[in-house]
Amino acid sequence: MSKYNSAPREIKVKYPCACAACGIKLPKGLNVYYWPGTKKIYCRACGEPSFRAFLESAWDEEQYQMQYH
Ligand SMILES: [Zn+2]
Repeated sequence: MSKYNSAPREIKVKYPCACAACGIKLPKGLNVYYWPGTKKIYCRACGEPSFRAFLESAWDEEQYQMQYH
């Protein structure tokens, strides 16, 4: 399932950086959300809504496929 290569995931910051949305500083070791597709890192506050939306859409698709296979 190649589309999951770009699935957002929760990671720990390996080097200090900043949130791509709000610009807050993200110190090493902080849990953040990472989007491999866009290579962007978001703090939990900014990343959470899209992360959850992604999980829900992935889940919906799984249910859909279970129904039709
Ligand atoms: Zn942010």
